[in-house]
Amino acid sequence: MLAVDVGGTKIAAALVAEDGRILRGSSVPTPGGRDADLVADAVVRAVADLDAAGGVAAVGIGSAGPLDVVAGTVSPVNIPAWRGYPIVATLRAAVPGVPVALAGDGQCMALGEYWRGEGEVRALLGMVVSTGVGGGVVLDGRVQTGPTGSAGHIGHITVDPDGPRCPCGGRGCVEVYASGPSMVRWAREQGWTPGSGADGAGLATDARAGDPVARAAFERGARAVAAAIVCAAALVELDEVVLGGGVVNGAADLLLDPIRAGMAAIAGLEFIRRVRVRASTLGAEAGLLGAAALGLEAATREHHAVVA
Ligand SMILES: [Zn+2]
Repeated sequence: MLAVDVGGTKIAAALVAEDGRILRGSSVPTPGGRDADLVADAVVRAVADLDAAGGVAAVGIGSAGPLDVVAGTVSPVNIPAWRGYPIVATLRAAVPGVPVALAGDGQCMALGEYWRGEGEVRALLGMVVSTGVGGGVVLDGRVQTGPTGSAGHIGHITVDPDGPRCPCGGRGCVEVYASGPSMVRWAREQGWTPGSGADGAGLATDARAGDPVARAAFERGARAVAAAIVCAAALVELDEVVLGGGVVNGAADLLLDPIRAGMAAIAGLEFIRRVRVRASTLGAEAGLLGAAALGLEAATREHHAVVA
């Protein structure tokens, strides 16, 4: 399986075995600027670096959004050169003759965690808490993309209808409480004076040192995440929630217990109260593995279609 992960800072690719082992990986910085072909060349180069000639059954792509899985196009917010860019066609040309599947990066993270996770899990929510908040839902082994690819926007679930405006245009979204920049901004508004750095890492350091405003910023973010998880669990009966992304990787100790406590404080129904919450063990590889799983699914489907 050839997996491709398109992000605003880097484009990663990997050859992944059917059992989920990463055989070879490559990565190139995402070119800035307005030249769509320059970014496409970087993707093709990352794939060519893997030297996969002849050995690939399918290609799975995870990309920052928005995207359109029907049209096979992506318009990543952090890659201004690509607006409605036909990434599926680009990879079809680069790796001819095999199925090419596309999903969002949060969707791929969730699928990767599902694929490589342990225990009996039928319904999993993956949540990426970083400069934004994203995610994806896997139900009965299939990642839910929605009609066009927008399913799983857990960061834009409204947790307070009277809350602050979100950059998405909505109000009271999880992201305006729980993203790294949102927590930092709120802490500064509340009088936090950074002791070791003015970013999320500095906020975490100060929270661990006992700064009450820094601690409150994480608890406030955790309450918003907890509310979103409870909403999602009520809707699709989740077994497990896996949290990843830079903010969680750097501050799991400050977030996980408050998220669990926040859920316990507001969840009523038993099936919601028993949802398990854990941190990702795959880290940055989850997205690539999910893209590989997406490719595997596409290859299996194609095989069945041919047999039928
Ligand atoms: Zn929003």
